Amino acid sequence: MTPTPVTPTPHIAVLGSANMDLVAYVAKAPRRGETVTGREFRTVPGGKGANQAVAAARAGATVSMIGAIGADTFGAQLRSSLEHSGVDTDLLRSVETPTGTAHIVVDDEGGNAIVVVPGANGTVKGLTPGDEALIASADTLLLQLEIPLKGVLTAARAARRHGVRTVLTPAPAQPLPDELLAATDLLLPNEHEAAALTGIADDPRAAARSLLAQVPEVVITLGAEGSLYAARGAEPVTVPAPRVTAVDTTGAGDTFAGALAVALAEGRPVPDALHWASSAAALSVQRPGASASMPCRKEIDAQAN
Ligand code: ATP
Repeated sequence: MTPTPVTPTPHIAVLGSANMDLVAYVAKAPRRGETVTGREFRTVPGGKGANQAVAAARAGATVSMIGAIGADTFGAQLRSSLEHSGVDTDLLRSVETPTGTAHIVVDDEGGNAIVVVPGANGTVKGLTPGDEALIASADTLLLQLEIPLKGVLTAARAARRHGVRTVLTPAPAQPLPDELLAATDLLLPNEHEAAALTGIADDPRAAARSLLAQVPEVVITLGAEGSLYAARGAEPVTVPAPRVTAVDTTGAGDTFAGALAVALAEGRPVPDALHWASSAAALSVQRPGASASMPCRKEIDAQAN
């Protein structure tokens, strides 16, 4: 049998959001009209697009991020944080609209309330010729839904035209146009997103089967239970997650997405790729933070073996 070819360094393009998360830690979140004193405040680079870009870069790919930030301090911080992780930001535009922000209040019980102001992310409604050329040169395009659907759809169609694999994380959950699913190669929802898309709750296998009517491959992430892979013409398979002590699961899904894209673009067989992505995500949940907790390739290899 001919061994599966392994591409040394895959090229992943990511089109999506970059946000600054403004996180206040309080004993109890304020009610309407109330002011409370917080214990701590942190600014944390976030946005699903930027997080997946960092995850894929740390996992060993050449990564280019397409999106928009404001010409402001948060924008500069986000760009430099992406570059620090090795993400190419030449196509991350600086625009007049302020950088997207997520205003997060975390209480002592670990509950949170979040207001997202998309800001510059809302301007990503299409592709420049440079964006399209970049997508055409990539092995895989990673997409999520924190920018306008029009931008996501335009990019997915461009990827399809150029024979580039598209991986779509349908978050935040919302109804998806058929044209977007038709241009998606691998759909990567979590359990809740899969239930929202299909109307099938508490039965990921049935949800996956239902989604296969519209996309050829589906991976549903199941938190500590692992993930479920389904493809047309085959029985769905569950891939367990390593048993670890989770301290912060924020960004686990994005870590999984970035690592999975890298492994598949390297030509690894699907079960190996899923095991490797689960290893990356298991490492991320053992450390606090979203992008800050994402592991590098050496750590993933060590966990996977
Ligand atoms: P988030 O929104 O927190 O980024 P998500 O809801 O998109 O995550 P999950 O399904 O919760 O995605 O997790 C993604 C993957 O991360 C899982 O498929 C699993 O591999 C890994 N994972 C999550 N939680 C744990 C855990 N407690 N232990 C081990 N692995 C975990």
